[in-house]
Amino acid sequence: MKALVLEEKGKISYRDFDLQDELTPDDVRVKPMAVGICGSDVHYYREGNIGDFVVRSPMILGHEAAGEVIETGSNVSNFAVGDRVCMEPGIPDFRSSQTLMGMYNLDPSVRFWATPPVHGCLRETVVHPASLTFKLPENVSYREGALIEPVAIGVYSAKKAAIAPGDTALVLGAGTIGTVTALAAKASGCSKVFVADIKLAKLELLEAYYSGEIVTIDLGVSDVSSVLADHGLDGVDIVFEATGAAAAFKGIADYLVPGGRLVLIGMPDGEVGLDVVALQVKEISIETIFRYVNIFPKAIDLIASGKLNALPLITKSYPLKDAVEAFEYAATLPDDQIKIMIEM
Ligand SMILES: [Zn+2]
Repeated sequence: MKALVLEEKGKISYRDFDLQDELTPDDVRVKPMAVGICGSDVHYYREGNIGDFVVRSPMILGHEAAGEVIETGSNVSNFAVGDRVCMEPGIPDFRSSQTLMGMYNLDPSVRFWATPPVHGCLRETVVHPASLTFKLPENVSYREGALIEPVAIGVYSAKKAAIAPGDTALVLGAGTIGTVTALAAKASGCSKVFVADIKLAKLELLEAYYSGEIVTIDLGVSDVSSVLADHGLDGVDIVFEATGAAAAFKGIADYLVPGGRLVLIGMPDGEVGLDVVALQVKEISIETIFRYVNIFPKAIDLIASGKLNALPLITKSYPLKDAVEAFEYAATLPDDQIKIMIEM
């Protein structure tokens, strides 16, 4: 079948790829219709690895997908040919201890699309467990369906933050994950959500689409505490760290009110410094997240209900045949772009 293949570091081609995709009784076969390009896809393209995950042989890219069911396994009763769906890209061992504990996202043997050596979904068809496939309501498009994967990280972060009605939140980082986290926090009952970044163009994009929902903080010209003070706040109830940059951890406790929560989403390259005493004297609790677990249906419902509009995140889209060009563009993404979508 035709697929978008990362041949090796820095080299992508759109070509025929020989794959034997066997449909087991518990699987569905899906024709992807929209696939988002993720920072991780671009990272593999540019660097050839993420940490210990190294591209050693040609690998099909893509893990943020929505599409149409074209075949169902003999045990599958909740899907029919023609259903519109999105898919959770990590397939755990369903018998692992982590899965049995309800934390299948932490299963070390999880097979995650487009994480070497597992092939991704930028191809004509994929076979996927029905239990990790979710129907899209009528009013949720394929484009939105392909955004469910990043949105799920935001919704899971909001859940971990245990948001109470009227809470205030600060998100560090205005990339895709920071933005979906801010939107999820707002949809979950936060009264005010601030998003801080050093990239003005990204903040301007948020201003353009979400000015009623998000207050932006341009770290190039102002500091967080003074903006919070302008809004009559001494600190926020929740800080979501969505950059993974070591510098973001400096003084992070200062942004929080006593008893506040710090949610760590971004993944730093190595160890980072955290002022423990500054957290202790405010009794800050820390939550961490790794991808998401049992959250896709909620993310879909939030979008279907109109409480979370993720569509403005898609700033450019390409047909599959131009996917190589799409990746070249994504590899040097201008600051005023967020999500590049490939549509079949
Ligand atoms: Zn992604």
